[in-house]
Amino acid sequence: MINFEHPEDREYFANLLANGDVKKLDRDFSELFDFEHLAMKRWRFNKIRKKILKELIEKYGNECQLKIHPDCSKVQKFEPDHIIPLASNELNKKLRKMARFSSEKVEQQSFGSNNMKNLTLACKRCNAFKKHRMFLSINFGLQK
Ligand SMILES: [Zn+2]
Repeated sequence: MINFEHPEDREYFANLLANGDVKKLDRDFSELFDFEHLAMKRWRFNKIRKKILKELIEKYGNECQLKIHPDCSKVQKFEPDHIIPLASNELNKKLRKMARFSSEKVEQQSFGSNNMKNLTLACKRCNAFKKHRMFLSINFGLQK
């Protein structure tokens, strides 16, 4: 079972990925998650980044999987993109309504893994465009 810190997160991701089916989420999407400390996941990712980019280009060719910016792929520069971000404060904001009315920084929660299943190919344009809208890759980059 995916080891979510908050029970509402399981529900949130089940809705996002598995039409609300919690069992399907655990069965089909567990590799997308890794709740280890963010710094550790980043460190590991940087070590395999080049290899992953090469694998993704072999898999998808020079074709961005996000296609969310009008200038998508105009500049042929690609990056691996985490479908579930390594960390996000979005659920703390959204589901737990933390710091909504204060300037206090909302805590980042660790979510995504460095597993190939959680990685897709994005052009620099789309990847930058997506930055502040978390979980957008899920709709565009996730292979069924
Ligand atoms: Zn693109």
